[in-house]
Amino acid sequence: MSHPILSEFDIVFAGGGTTACVVAGRLAAYDPSLRILILEAGQHTLNKPIHQ
Ligand SMILES: Cc1cc2nc3c(=O)[nH]c(=O)nc-3n(C[C@H](O)[C@H](O)[C@H](O)COP(=O)(O)OP(=O)(O)OC[C@H]3O[C@@H](n4cnc5c(N)ncnc54)[C@H](O)[C@@H]3O)c2cc1C
Repeated sequence: MSHPILSEFDIVFAGGGTTACVVAGRLAAYDPSLRILILEAGQHTLNKPIHQ
């Protein structure tokens, strides 16, 4: 069983951690037409010292 929105994407990453972000970025650079979804459960770390 899958959620209908998932069919709108070519690739879905469960978890937006290091691995997913690196691989998604490289795939997007290789083929910008790819529709990539990253599902992240944690809170964002943008501009937080631990992120930088
Ligand atoms: C304190 C600390 C310092 C570190 N320092 C370094 C360093 O200096 N250099 C280095 O190379 N490595 C360092 N590491 C190790 C590095 O962080 C990990 O090896 C790396 O992040 C692992 O990447 P990952 O993509 O496998 O997992 P993660 O980066 O942990 O990504 C997994 C993601 O999945 C998400 N997730 C989990 N469950 C779900 C769910 N059900 N639905 C959606 N999302 C979900 C999590 O929120 C997380 O964002 C450090 C680790 C720690 C804890």
